[in-house]
Amino acid sequence: MSGRVNLMEKFPINPGETAAEHTGRLLREARTAGTFRQCSIGWHEECSDAYGEECMCSCHALGITLTRDQLESWAGRELTDEEVEHLDTHIGESSIPEAVGEIVRGWD
Ligand SMILES: [Zn+2]
Ligand SMILES: [Zn+2]
Repeated sequence: MSGRVNLMEKFPINPGETAAEHTGRLLREARTAGTFRQCSIGWHEECSDAYGEECMCSCHALGITLTRDQLESWAGRELTDEEVEHLDTHIGESSIPEAVGEIVRGWD
């Protein structure tokens, strides 16, 4: 498997190239790089692969996947598949990213 890449950084727009041509070029490169469409054109927040399990964009380099055990231990009880899926979509909007930022800042 190839390493993670940021296509927008690796292949910036060329002088004289239109935005549409640039997008087309990025999407051709994406097939080789293994990045999803949204990430390839710089819409990282919109990537349909939020955890980068398949998308090879460097924005997913964190590579942390929460296990169900971890989620259930935080929740304090067993969770249904539906609840886990629901959490999956909402964790990014929760205070968890903020909490991680705070922890890391505490190391400096
Ligand atoms: Zn992505
Ligand atoms: Zn990305």
